[in-house]
Amino acid sequence: MTIAFDNTYARLPERFFAKVPPTPVRAPALLRVNESLCELLGIDAAELRSPEGVARLAGNGLFDGSEPIALAYAGHQFGGFSPKLGDGRAILLGEVVGKDGVRRDIQLKGSGPTPFSRRGDGRAAIGPVLREYLVSESMHALRVPTTRALAAVTTGEVVLRGDDLPGAVLTRVAASHLRVGTFEYFAAQRDLDGLERLVKFALWRHYPHLARNPDRALTLLDAVIDAQTTLVSRWMGLGFVHGVMNTDNTSISGETIDYGPCAFLDAYDPGRTFSSIDQQGRYAFHNQPRIALWNLARLAEAILPLVSSDEDAAVKQVTERLDTFPDRFGARHHAILRDKLGLGDERDDDVALARDLLELMAKARVDFTLTFRRLFDAIDRAPRVSVVSAMFADPAPFDAWAVRWRARLDGDSVPVATRKERMRLANPAFIARNHRVEQMIAKATEGDLSLFERMLRVLARPCDDQPDDEDLMDPPGADQWDYQTFCGT
Ligand code: AMP
Ligand code: MG
Repeated sequence: MTIAFDNTYARLPERFFAKVPPTPVRAPALLRVNESLCELLGIDAAELRSPEGVARLAGNGLFDGSEPIALAYAGHQFGGFSPKLGDGRAILLGEVVGKDGVRRDIQLKGSGPTPFSRRGDGRAAIGPVLREYLVSESMHALRVPTTRALAAVTTGEVVLRGDDLPGAVLTRVAASHLRVGTFEYFAAQRDLDGLERLVKFALWRHYPHLARNPDRALTLLDAVIDAQTTLVSRWMGLGFVHGVMNTDNTSISGETIDYGPCAFLDAYDPGRTFSSIDQQGRYAFHNQPRIALWNLARLAEAILPLVSSDEDAAVKQVTERLDTFPDRFGARHHAILRDKLGLGDERDDDVALARDLLELMAKARVDFTLTFRRLFDAIDRAPRVSVVSAMFADPAPFDAWAVRWRARLDGDSVPVATRKERMRLANPAFIARNHRVEQMIAKATEGDLSLFERMLRVLARPCDDQPDDEDLMDPPGADQWDYQTFCGT
């Protein structure tokens, strides 16, 4: 079983992790192997699919060269600080440098208890594993930075989540598993040496072109602000609600991580939350940029002692960096909104045009994804605007908006073919619709993977028209509206 591991995190001091192997399971069986990701990582997909491969993906035995560790981290969860969280049900097998030269972590999730498990069983159920597999791969296809799924297996064991559910293990691939919470872990212990090493490691791993900058901690903060503004602006353009933006789920690389209670907006409601545990709406759709900044402020606090021994000076310097967030986020978000409307050149009133549409959409509770896709269909076929108009209970205000939109399009200097392609890519036809994900999980739990496979195939080309699968574009029916997600434990 050959995976060309090249491990670096395991070389850091032992207080960064706990050495712990996965716990063997009764009867491993394959759900899926991700061929194209295997290809990128230089891993033989056929080997992973063999009985020995499937056994190892379930934690029965180790791949050669793997040095299994559970990473230590802390985190602010719903605003409250936990000094010790760590990988309670995940084990880092090691790192692999892909054919693209990028180093990535390979991690088993649901592979048994670790010293960080507290009262948890260290396990995962088939539903959350397939949901993460499908949604993370769909986000990748939407060009959103994200962790990915290399494989999923069942364990032949039952996990207790209210009901008895089939147990499963996900093999997750990430640029790294460093989080804001990793920095908070060392900061909370006043372990300056640990913090310093972590900053160096993170720069080397994710921002090597900046590693020689003299102010390493500030440089890292700045790079992470940049990565997070990019990430969250992409979420906002897709109607994606992460659902659990705790600092332990805020990646230093700027990838989407942790697909526990995530969901896509259907009827547009900017204040929408889905997670059953988010009673205050902390992680509501429209709060996501504000929360990203809040999480970055926790990173800034953690690295403060490395910025300057003079605390006031350090606070001033990190605050200057954090203060750039609104402009940086705004620039990216506005560019995405322009793409969504098919606007090529940049004009002062573009943002107002986008805001006005979003306001009408919120009032009418029209489907977020479908409205923009239908608008795309109309960019060079004016009569098709009527299809969008028909989605609004009261079409008149939308029609007035559409006249402004058409006038703005007519005056654009960028060739329509260029704008149209950008608009197509900004307005997917296919997203992992919540009610479909739930159907997929219900079927898979009964042993039927057909919808999982079909959704994977369709969501791999989210911006292409796929007439045979148009049913997957449909919003939920009235009986499927009150969608709630539960933290993926
Ligand atoms: P999450 O909500 O998935 O981000 O997890 C938050 C923390 O709870 C992390 O430290 C996880 O490792 C831990 N955790 C979540 N589920 C389990 C479980 N079933 N067993 C052990 N630890 C868990
Ligand atoms: Mg997490």
